[in-house]
Amino acid sequence: MTMACMVAPRLLPRPLHVPWYLDPGNTRSERWFAAADLIDIAAPAERDTSSPEARERLERAATLSADAKTLAAGGTEASALRATTFHLLAAELRREAGAWSLCAENYGALTRHHLSRGKLRPAVAYMRKMLFVTEGASASPDRLEACILAASVYVAVRQVAPARNAASEAAAIAVRLSDADGLAAVDRLLPRISELANACPTGKKPEPCACGSNEGYRACCGVADEVPAEFLVRPAAHGQRSAKVGPRAVTGQAGIDLLMELPGPEGECLNWVGVMVEDGRHSLITLPNWSGRAMRSARIMSKRALLDPGGTDFPSAAVLQVACGIEAFINTVEHFIGRSGPERFGHIRFPDFKAEGEDDPGEAGSTRRRWAGIGIALFGPDWAKEVRLHDLAKLMALRNALLHFKGAHEEWIIPAPVKEQALLDRFKDCFAMRDPPRPWIDRILTPGLATWAVDLGDGLIAAFRHAWHREEVRFEVESRDQDREEA
Ligand SMILES: [Zn+2]
Repeated sequence: MTMACMVAPRLLPRPLHVPWYLDPGNTRSERWFAAADLIDIAAPAERDTSSPEARERLERAATLSADAKTLAAGGTEASALRATTFHLLAAELRREAGAWSLCAENYGALTRHHLSRGKLRPAVAYMRKMLFVTEGASASPDRLEACILAASVYVAVRQVAPARNAASEAAAIAVRLSDADGLAAVDRLLPRISELANACPTGKKPEPCACGSNEGYRACCGVADEVPAEFLVRPAAHGQRSAKVGPRAVTGQAGIDLLMELPGPEGECLNWVGVMVEDGRHSLITLPNWSGRAMRSARIMSKRALLDPGGTDFPSAAVLQVACGIEAFINTVEHFIGRSGPERFGHIRFPDFKAEGEDDPGEAGSTRRRWAGIGIALFGPDWAKEVRLHDLAKLMALRNALLHFKGAHEEWIIPAPVKEQALLDRFKDCFAMRDPPRPWIDRILTPGLATWAVDLGDGLIAAFRHAWHREEVRFEVESRDQDREEA
């Protein structure tokens, strides 16, 4: 009987949701959260560790940590790898529950796992987390253990000064705790540190990082010598989700899935926060939802335009905002799909938008071509017939005629040298224009134009999202059928 068969039933009393970045085979990944903002994390004490939810997390983390120990003792590489997943999940639960110091157990095990396999980048990353969560516990056995382990990691990456610091802190704690084993461990480390110091004379050019990359330590494994990002900031949930805790709040989604979400009662979220994890190191970035923001402004401008039937300012602002919204949307689609990983979208080929436009050189790389090309690549050739791409071309032509910059700081809306009649003809069936004699710009910038532009922008984006969901359903049905055939 194999180890896995023996332990599996006991280890999995209930379905275990493993967040994406806890997959030990996945050393580099990113997930996104719909977020109102980022929240500063000052200290773990701010989170309530006595709530039933926190208690449940902590209990689960304790079980997982114990199971991880059993697994690691199992001796096979597969069980050791499984143990790392359990440790990661336990650390995550403990961090989320606000019990940071408890994470030391898990980060210590993860550091040892990677160190013993020569994987120095993750070893340094987990060692830093371990030092971070034991900071301020200057007389605890956990801190002693952390310092001893940190010193050996620093020896492995040939960093003399931090290795010395960690060893002397360990020695001081061992003395205070009268811990003979601790002192012995420090004694075993000291010769290795001196040896290292003699081998790396100071003043020499920094040698490449010990992990085997060609970069220097500071730019490589040493990047982790900072406060781990997941302890500094977290995404503040958007709208309804603030109340929602659970696997989804921890795991996030692929960015493209957030972009494709239909707006809820509170509208589209204003930001997405991306959490990247690479070799145990977390980093966060915020991406404003430019498209959602621009379309929201455009809707406001268009409503204002209706209250000012003779004006031209609100209609021109609405057109510019809609154009921004449509451009930002397709840019974000391309960006998120490009970063979603080849296993999901690798089969999709987007056209080369830098190629020359066939009919109009000004159209090369244009928004209309990008909408058409990306839509067809994702949803098939019929997509171009279903949506108002001809109207999109009109909108962009008008935007290009309206948008001119004068000076470094001012944006002026002035009539560009356009083929006036041709432009007017393009819009003659779209909305009611003002009568001549007036400049073309006054004839065209009407409340009707604003309404038309907003309908176009909202309609295109909604059509894209609906096509996306239709494809997803089709894909699910097909995979289910395929599974049935194979069974
Ligand atoms: Zn390195």
